[in-house]
Amino acid sequence: MIKKLLIANRGEIALRIVRACKQLGIQTVGVYSTADKDLMHLRFVDEAVCIGDAPSSQSYLNTNAILSAAEVTGADAIHPGYGFLSENADFAEKVEEAGLTFVGPHADHIRLMGNKVSAINAMKKAGVPTVPGSVGAITLHNAEEQAKAIGFPLIVKAAAGGGGRGMRVVERFEELINQVQAAKAEAESAFGDDTVYMERFLKNPRHVEIQVLGDGNGNALHLFDRDCSLQRRHQKVLEEAPAPGIPDDIRQPILDACVRACEQIKYRGAGTFEFLYEDGQFFFIEMNTRVQVEHPVTEMITGIDIISEQLKIAAGYGLSYRQDEITIRGHAIECRINAEDPKTFMPCPGKIDGLFIPSGAGVRFDSHLYQGYAIPSYYDSMIGKLICHAQTRHQAVAKMLHALDELVIEGIKTNIALHRDVILQDADFVQEAQNIHYLENHLLKAK
Ligand code: ADP
Repeated sequence: MIKKLLIANRGEIALRIVRACKQLGIQTVGVYSTADKDLMHLRFVDEAVCIGDAPSSQSYLNTNAILSAAEVTGADAIHPGYGFLSENADFAEKVEEAGLTFVGPHADHIRLMGNKVSAINAMKKAGVPTVPGSVGAITLHNAEEQAKAIGFPLIVKAAAGGGGRGMRVVERFEELINQVQAAKAEAESAFGDDTVYMERFLKNPRHVEIQVLGDGNGNALHLFDRDCSLQRRHQKVLEEAPAPGIPDDIRQPILDACVRACEQIKYRGAGTFEFLYEDGQFFFIEMNTRVQVEHPVTEMITGIDIISEQLKIAAGYGLSYRQDEITIRGHAIECRINAEDPKTFMPCPGKIDGLFIPSGAGVRFDSHLYQGYAIPSYYDSMIGKLICHAQTRHQAVAKMLHALDELVIEGIKTNIALHRDVILQDADFVQEAQNIHYLENHLLKAK
């Protein structure tokens, strides 16, 4: 087994990883920036190392500082969490070159999936359905011809894209070249790579994703699906598992296709296949080669600790379950709690003056908050994830409403009211009628 794990992350996910390590008897090393010495997980790790200044480029993205911290503490493995270096193939390679275990997929797979054009091609080859779109990357020369074949509206997307950047919706042929140029410029400045491709723009799809685990030797399984349609600016706000309203004869083939794809490429570790789902059809858009923020909803309905599985797979123990041992029990919902102004959605860091955390059967709050903690302004505004699990979706919604009522975070502004008073009260949401545009175009406009 891994003896000592360095956690190359911060906040709630760092604490979550410490918990899994304690369970497995793994020692832990925490790393932190100068702005983060008060992080909660640093009180529970065996050792902690400061890796640089507050800006992530000087700390959590500083490969050399992280590798040095692993060396001085004698860590034998690194868990990257999500964000930061978690999908950086060069980092994964360097970790392994230093003789350490990278808790994640092989660098080649991170690279394959990190470029969406190569990811889509690989998935087509593996029999996973993709969005009708351009044949590979497009250029200013062939864009018009390819666009005619796809039809309008279409979406121009950055091959290296992430976080919703580098995407342009094109309604009409006349706008095409301008928008391709704009998307290329945005992709170049955001990712240093101006490769773009095109897809049919789906009008009202849902975002449905499938959690997989692979052992790296050609064995894989799925942990069912999640619906993450409620998004603002392509950022997820609320997630649930299983994805509601998908008939078994549509769900099963796509679950099987994802498992087969993982087996074919000998995928290692946890991964997520992201799809758009419209009119009973699934369309692959990308694969994330790391643990997702929303992994707890899957843990709640399957009873499987995904971080523990990542650690066991990385240590070479393979998969702990057979597919037929994994079943869905009940329904789980996660509300992302952000430190943000409810009117402007601008991040709103500050000191936590008062805190009450809800609990009870099926209520979980994954968070690093404590009373007196000052949220630094340098990082993501997500400060916690409230997860509720019950027998039915209806009961999970009801439990979430109570839990949000109980959750008190004083001293800063949050989006608790958006969840409690807007989303969870909405008749369409309650009737499972969400889609990816719903929160922005309907709920937030009506507010
Ligand atoms: P990123 O990696 O930047 O998050 P994705 O490819 O995952 O980019 O897409 C992010 C979001 O953009 C999706 O969840 C969906 O809301 C929207 N989107 C992406 N592709 C399409 C498409 N072909 N049609 C409609 N919406 C899309």
